[in-house]
Amino acid sequence: MTNTLLSDANRRLERALKYAHISDDASERLRFPKASLKVSIPVRMDDGSLRVFEGYRVHYDDTRGPTKGGIRFHPKVTMDEVQSLAFWMTFKCAALNLPLGGAKGGITLNPKELSKFELERLSRGYIDAIADFIGPDVDIPAPDVYTNAMIMGWMMDQYSIIRRQRCPAVITGKPIGMGGSLGRDTATGMGAFYVLEAMMPKFDKAPPETTVAVQGFGNAGSVIAQCLFDAGYRVVAVSDSQGGVYCPQGLDIPSIRQFKTSTRSVKAVYCEGTVCNLVDNYTTLSNADLLTLKVDILIPAALENQITEANAADIQAKYIFEVANGPISSSGDRILEEKGTYVFPDILVNAGGVTVSYFEWVQNRSGLYWTLSEINSRLKQRIVTEAEAVWRIAHELAIPLRTAAYVHALERLGEALNAKGTRE
Ligand code: GLU
Repeated sequence: MTNTLLSDANRRLERALKYAHISDDASERLRFPKASLKVSIPVRMDDGSLRVFEGYRVHYDDTRGPTKGGIRFHPKVTMDEVQSLAFWMTFKCAALNLPLGGAKGGITLNPKELSKFELERLSRGYIDAIADFIGPDVDIPAPDVYTNAMIMGWMMDQYSIIRRQRCPAVITGKPIGMGGSLGRDTATGMGAFYVLEAMMPKFDKAPPETTVAVQGFGNAGSVIAQCLFDAGYRVVAVSDSQGGVYCPQGLDIPSIRQFKTSTRSVKAVYCEGTVCNLVDNYTTLSNADLLTLKVDILIPAALENQITEANAADIQAKYIFEVANGPISSSGDRILEEKGTYVFPDILVNAGGVTVSYFEWVQNRSGLYWTLSEINSRLKQRIVTEAEAVWRIAHELAIPLRTAAYVHALERLGEALNAKGTRE
């Protein structure tokens, strides 16, 4: 098998299959994405020229319900990446016991190079191209890397124009005024924090004596950094795509959040004086250096494949909480396992986003909207229950937490696939 992201994801599946009680038929079906769509999206640019962008949408498995997963705007988006992300969504939804399958979408571009009007035309064009592939009972997109509520709003509106009726349940992560859910914007970071808060007491480490480094200061990374700061943890390093800052006494996360906007990097906020006058003892560092800092907890919250065989041996953190999707490659995993690092896996840790997306879809369909505290308490209850189950499986079977999360999801997927029968 060539070494693609999907083959890497499949290696994890093969490992978990040894421990799950699932039929050969079911496991064979889970090795392949159900359907993959590639589209061209012509966009009229502001200067009058025409540019064609490439977009993707993949349904990985829909046995447990309509497929669900975000849409990513990034220069490195490929079909292989979208397929692996759809694979992860399948396991994530099953691990959280959501009645949903897994999907993912993406467009290959650098969104920072487009004006707001160009982005809107691109977002609507993407929906024109995939409209027959999505739907409230078919496949429900959501935000992912470099997409947000504004983009989801345009997309929902475009889908409603095509269907000639208002269809809020076709997309989640929408602006509140268009049927979005309270708490969806902070859900990934909050969910990850609930998992961390439930798991760390098992290691007898109190927050003030626990140091943390967070790679990625977007929607998820900045929220978990804030939650950790509020809970008294010492967040000593944070970064974004431009690099990061390190302060052994702990960073002032609220100020960094306040001054960082999409155009200003964490480093600029610090070094140009907005925040640095609050502390004098800080240094700047690269993303690669942040990963190997001597801290207790490392939180990769950016992109996939940040920890591989090239740097896994240098990781000093004892606990890793994967807020990004796939930040550790399977070869990196093996090295960390030998070192005894506890890796709390993405399909559990970052599942808060899709969980509140599910709540949004339920609210859209019922027409009854919940309060923020209802949403956060339902999120906490669900994610902590599943985290405890994963922890138990890991201990009972003496397997890494990642494999345990896959086994947990596989049992549910296997049950659904078997119940479907043997039509093939
Ligand atoms: N993009 C997020 C993820 O990777 C959320 C997906 C969703 O809400 O459907 O989990």
